[in-house]
Amino acid sequence: MTDIKETQETRPIMPGAEDSGRPLVELTHVEKHYGDLHVLKDINLTVKKGEVLVIVGPSGSGKSTMCRTINRLETIDSGDIRIDGKPLPQEGKELASLRAEVGMVFQSFNLFANKTILENVTLAPIKVRHMDKKAAEGLAMDLLSRVGVASQASKMPSQLSGGQQQRVAIARALAMQPKVMLFDEPTSALDPEMVNEVLDVMVELAHEGMTMLCVTHEMGFARKVADKVVFMADGQILEQSTPEDFFENPKTDRAKDFLSKIL
Ligand code: ADP
Ligand code: MG
Repeated sequence: MTDIKETQETRPIMPGAEDSGRPLVELTHVEKHYGDLHVLKDINLTVKKGEVLVIVGPSGSGKSTMCRTINRLETIDSGDIRIDGKPLPQEGKELASLRAEVGMVFQSFNLFANKTILENVTLAPIKVRHMDKKAAEGLAMDLLSRVGVASQASKMPSQLSGGQQQRVAIARALAMQPKVMLFDEPTSALDPEMVNEVLDVMVELAHEGMTMLCVTHEMGFARKVADKVVFMADGQILEQSTPEDFFENPKTDRAKDFLSKIL
């Protein structure tokens, strides 16, 4: 991870940490059903600038759905979602530019299989941000070197390991200079020996002041960088506390039960 550390001092990914504390993501009374299934129940959540939230909870509790509502990959039935004070646009150009402000990294790497690593990272800045190709390539190489895969730039995704592909996915999201990054179980599809190389990149981002919402059961990561742990079960947020409080002193039986199974 020396690449990241070396460039971090000269050019931070997240400039402007001075106005930290401003709410960047706000969900208020968010409700969502899939048919008869009440998947999100009165979700209220605020992520301030520079904050790192870790979301945990049993499978099926609505964690992915909640993340997907934040960049409108899923619609909601009622309630309000704001990014940096602005309500989520319904469609069109405004929606595209909102999506550019919210970077997302999924469990499966989702790279474009028929494009090189470099093209994967330059595509959106060229198409959505109208960057010229040379500038986009410069930015992409900078980001690829920060996540330690610059030497793979001309390869195809299938030639990279899972851990390398996931680091490319992070670089690709960062290339849009997002205000907030959402991670949905970014390491759960990886072979164990590759988990840390991805978590290291996430820790580095957190230390640089990136605002992050991470669904992950990597408790070491949560303890190291989370400002808050959010515990979800059955579509509800049952607890929001510091990692110390959550791990040492969970308040609900659901959280105690959950922790007894994963720790
Ligand atoms: P988690 O990420 O916490 O495991 P999800 O948000 O993926 O939970 O899913 C919450 C619930 O919603 C689950 O019961 C799941 O089966 C259901 N679900 C998720 N996506 C859909 C969908 N597109 N259509 C219908 N049900 C869905
Ligand atoms: Mg999920």
